[in-house]
Amino acid sequence: MDKAIFLDRDGVLIDNQQHYYIWKSDQMKFVDGVFKNLQLLQENGFLLFIVSNQGGISRGLYSKEDILKLHDELIQTFRKNNITITDILFCPHHSDNEKCLCRKPEPLMIEKLIAKYDLNPSESVMVGDSDPDMQAAAGAGIRGIKITANQNMLPYILELIQ
Ligand SMILES: [Mg+2]
Ligand SMILES: [Zn+2]
Repeated sequence: MDKAIFLDRDGVLIDNQQHYYIWKSDQMKFVDGVFKNLQLLQENGFLLFIVSNQGGISRGLYSKEDILKLHDELIQTFRKNNITITDILFCPHHSDNEKCLCRKPEPLMIEKLIAKYDLNPSESVMVGDSDPDMQAAAGAGIRGIKITANQNMLPYILELIQ
């Protein structure tokens, strides 16, 4: 069984100080240290996943296709930096418009990935910048680490791999 890091996208990988909703490549500014930090996690045996709420789709601000395209670019950019993102799941719903089982704080996206990739929950961690990220981790029975949004997460990474 592999161990995994589940990463929130906005505020953790992509800086969201300029744009709250991010769906175009010119909005994709990476948080400091992201490449080095993910390389360290990977070198220490973690598979990397992204789980992201994209309620802007439900709100009609952008489409599912926009997000799929952006995520292709995201995966390519990481690949160029020798980082493999194994899978990305996103919730296209918004609690203002509909009920769903996937939007964090629900744990379903994490649970699906644990099942699909036969991951070990006791060694896996959700890294996020919000309470819903931490609630999703708790619901899925894994550890949650809440980082400060848009800041280099190296101190947390060092603690995880020591
Ligand atoms: Mg976030
Ligand atoms: Zn959903």
